[in-house]
Amino acid sequence: MKPAPFAYHAPAQLPELLELLADDLSDVRVIAGGQSLVPMMNFRLAAPEVLVDLRRVPELRGLRWAPDGALTVGAAVTQAQLLRDRRACDAFPVLAEGIRHIGHPQIRSRGTVCGSLAHHDPHAELPALALALDARMTVASAQGVREVPADDFFVSYYEVALEPGELLTAVTFPAQPADAGWAFRELARRRGDFALVGAVAGMRAVGGAAAGTRLVLFGVGDRPRRIAAVEQLLDGAAPAERLGEVPALVAAAIDPVSDLHASAEYRREVAGELAVAALAEAWERARGRGEDQR
Ligand code: FAD
Repeated sequence: MKPAPFAYHAPAQLPELLELLADDLSDVRVIAGGQSLVPMMNFRLAAPEVLVDLRRVPELRGLRWAPDGALTVGAAVTQAQLLRDRRACDAFPVLAEGIRHIGHPQIRSRGTVCGSLAHHDPHAELPALALALDARMTVASAQGVREVPADDFFVSYYEVALEPGELLTAVTFPAQPADAGWAFRELARRRGDFALVGAVAGMRAVGGAAAGTRLVLFGVGDRPRRIAAVEQLLDGAAPAERLGEVPALVAAAIDPVSDLHASAEYRREVAGELAVAALAEAWERARGRGEDQR
């Protein structure tokens, strides 16, 4: 299959790129790694008239660290580039663990971190990781710049809080407590496939009890979900005593659909099991890290 004809621009300056995106007379799309957009164009599920490539813009390249340890990932940074960065993998181990589940090395070497967030497949790893890690999106247009928390960014299937003419220029991951334990679990039909269902869990261990518990599930509806009922259940308690209650709370909080890959019932059951496994692993890691800090 071949895409419909399109014009192609690869500007080297951000203002020029934003001007090109602001053209509301034609169907303009930004292209990053092309790992989702090009297949959609080849299948004629997308037929943009103009493609604007972001990869030549210097401001969009590279990882930047703030003095407080927050990591900002520019829109041109590939998933593989993040995995090659030792400091990023050490500071955000669950981010690295999750990204390793995306497709295959060939996909990750072209696909960008921000492209996955902007594309927002609800079965993708990165939107769930961004939600779990309280990421902030930096969004720019010819009119100016704004920040959107991950909580507000993912709207529904393939829909995010970007207006026409806006570009996700970067995502920032705030520093995580050094004693936090994190875990990532997903079930896919084959290694490298999109997840049927996945879970990201994190917490700290304070005096034998969980603190700051975080549980995000994906593949369970139109966007990744934080499961607040489970977070409240575990905070202040010894997780081992409460994990048995997790599957029922998960089942009540999610709204999976049936499709040709799995039924909604199956997804609901798997979500509960993955949540328990991820929380138990995060707890073990948090306890280990807590001991390391003492
Ligand atoms: P592109 O394909 O270039 O763009 C995707 C969409 O996002 C387009 O609409 C584009 O206009 C928009 N966009 C891109 N960047 C920006 C930006 N900075 N601001 C605003 N809009 C933007 N993904 C997974 O999560 N898990 C998987 O297991 C997985 N497996 C895959 C297997 C295969 C065989 C393939 C081909 C892809 C797979 N992917 C998977 C998708 C991959 O992660 C993509 O790289 C990612 O979804 C999109 O990133 P990209 O840089 O390629 O974006």
